[in-house]
Amino acid sequence: MIVLHCYVPGVREDDQAKCWEALVPVRARWPVLDVEVPPGADLGYAWAFRRAWGKDTLLNIEHDVAPSVELVEALALCPEPLCTRPPGGSPAQDAGQVCWLGCTKIALGVQLAVPWAPILRPWGQLDVDLTATLQQASGRYWHVHKEPLEHYHHA
Ligand SMILES: [Zn+2]
Repeated sequence: MIVLHCYVPGVREDDQAKCWEALVPVRARWPVLDVEVPPGADLGYAWAFRRAWGKDTLLNIEHDVAPSVELVEALALCPEPLCTRPPGGSPAQDAGQVCWLGCTKIALGVQLAVPWAPILRPWGQLDVDLTATLQQASGRYWHVHKEPLEHYHHA
C-alpha cells in the first residue's frame, strides 16, 4: 500500500501542519508519497493520482485531514476494495454512495479495472468523476469506516 498525500504550500499552513503531524506514525508503517500541488495548479492533484495509479493499493490522505493510525490501519486491512472515512453529516456520504477523496482507500484490483482513470480534472471535480468511475467498475458503493478523523475545512 502507498499513502498518497498531496499538499498545497502556503495555504492554511496550521491545518496542514496537523496532517503532517498525523502522518508521522503512518510513515513508520507505510510508504508515504508527498506531492506538492502549487496553489492554482488544480490539475496537480489528478496528476498525482495518475502517477501513482495501478502500482499498489492507494490510500489517499488530503492535506486538511488528520487521520488516526487506527483509521489508516483499518482502511489498509479491510478486505473491501473501496473504503472511505467520510467527514459525516450527509446521509449519502454515510451510506457510501458519494465520496470525497479526503481519506480513501482504492485497492489495486479496482485501479487495474479502470486503467484510464483518473481523468484529469480539477481538484474539486476529481472526487465526483473518479468515484463514479470506480463504483461503476467495482459495482459497489464505498465501504464506510467510522474510526476517528479530524477534518479541518472543506476546500
Ligand atoms: Zn473498508
